[in-house]
Amino acid sequence: MRARPSVAIVGGGFGGVGAATMLRREGYEDVTVFEKGERVGGVWQHNTYPGAACDIPSHLYEYSFAPNRWSRRYAPQAEIQAYVEGVARRFGVLENVRTGTEVKSATWDEQRGCWTLETGGGRHEADLLLTACGQLSVPKVPPISGLDSFDGPAFHTAEWRHDVELAGKRVAVIGTGCSAIQVVPAIQPLVTQLDVYQRSPGWTFPKMDYEYSPRARALFKRFPPLRRLDRASIYAFQEVGAAAMTSQRWLLPLFRAVGRRQINSAIADPELRRKVTPADEVGCKRIMLTDDWYPALAQANVDLVTERIATVTPSGIRDAAGIERAADAIVLATGFASHDFVAPMAITGSEGRSLAGEWADVARAYLGLSVPGFPNLFLLYGPNTNGGTGSVINTLECGVGHVLAALREMERSGASRIEVRAEAAKSFDRELRAALADTVWHSGCSNWYVDENGNDPSQWPWLWSTYRRRTERLEPGAYELSKAPTLASVGLG
Ligand code: NAP
Repeated sequence: MRARPSVAIVGGGFGGVGAATMLRREGYEDVTVFEKGERVGGVWQHNTYPGAACDIPSHLYEYSFAPNRWSRRYAPQAEIQAYVEGVARRFGVLENVRTGTEVKSATWDEQRGCWTLETGGGRHEADLLLTACGQLSVPKVPPISGLDSFDGPAFHTAEWRHDVELAGKRVAVIGTGCSAIQVVPAIQPLVTQLDVYQRSPGWTFPKMDYEYSPRARALFKRFPPLRRLDRASIYAFQEVGAAAMTSQRWLLPLFRAVGRRQINSAIADPELRRKVTPADEVGCKRIMLTDDWYPALAQANVDLVTERIATVTPSGIRDAAGIERAADAIVLATGFASHDFVAPMAITGSEGRSLAGEWADVARAYLGLSVPGFPNLFLLYGPNTNGGTGSVINTLECGVGHVLAALREMERSGASRIEVRAEAAKSFDRELRAALADTVWHSGCSNWYVDENGNDPSQWPWLWSTYRRRTERLEPGAYELSKAPTLASVGLG
């Protein structure tokens, strides 16, 4: 390995840009980010549907090393996209990014102690491989009968058809998750009829979004401790949410009361109230932050359809009660294939192990970051690092912090190969699964965290401060470091 290892990063979203920036700030110059899209930004580049915005206050949904002057408490998509690109430009990492280049496979070469990537732009080698593919990058289109037979445009929220004029049209929206609750209020005033197909409702909290006044913005600029205080208070609030969903579930009735109050104060019609009030425990599905979802549902041109969809027809949607509603366009707000992580990229570790094969039952990784048999590989926002609260930017920074700790340890010990020990990974996994069983996400609702077999490759069952603590240094004995391909282990701790 060269004096300072080379790093390949797959994905140019918040994870890839953040990792490249943090690595370069630590003096790692040989960093290449592969991004299959034409721009960096990840989900914020793709999710351009009307109303797309952050649901974590922006003072926490930003890199800790790049505070921004946001226009409002919860920044809209375009502003977040401009921020990620701005950070990449400002820290000089745009030159490290190869856009329009998909990584098809990555294979560990044991003899040479490096990763070989097959990309759309040719072969590439790197000492260390980081995946930063996100968990919500592959749109999920459910197998709804007849969808292909629909005559009009039907598209996913993450693949918004800006060429389709919805004004004055009859539109059907399928799904009532975080994406739907943003898109429905945004398009409701434009369309003649909006049918929202709900399978099961989720709890909401008031978002209390507002634009920062010039005075507030000037204050944040003049007194940086003020914005740090705001950031800390948001973090603390998110931690209370994390506790309520995991070890302190006695807090949930308070959360439910907030959600119920929001429904009751926004909706007068008892039938609509009944339809939108979830039977599930609050927090089992992601709590949705909104100020305009219920008011939009209460509009005269909106119908909330709670009958199951029987079939899509060429001219609309027929429900299980046999009622057909005409539609000119269908919006699929149906979420993402979140359990595939790095797929479709094929990752092959030592002794020809395939990552997809290792994950055949459920994706698992030590601290969400490393997998036995896959040396010099770290997964950012990997398995079990999602939360019901908290900012993914913080999670990503913790992950990169762990990678930097690993690199430092490798340098200190002169190692060129690092691999998590199977026993450490197993013991972490046991601890994780035991903690997950008691969380609200496993209380019996349908959510995108838990698969149809009850496996959970998604959630972190503790506080975010715990994630930081556990990732900031390498636990003694957790990793095996060695100097050269399969040569003497230098041990750790
Ligand atoms: P989602 O939460 O997975 O919601 C998908 C919706 O589609 C659900 O209402 C689901 O119903 C429904 N659905 C799925 N298959 C269906 C079918 N066959 N028939 C009828 N309905 C069907 O997806 P999402 O709204 O895109 O959100 C995913 C995640 O992305 C969020 O949890 C959040 O982490 C993130 N996100 C964040 C923001 C933000 O503000 N930063 C915005 C959007 C998304 P069931 O609930 O009954 O399964």
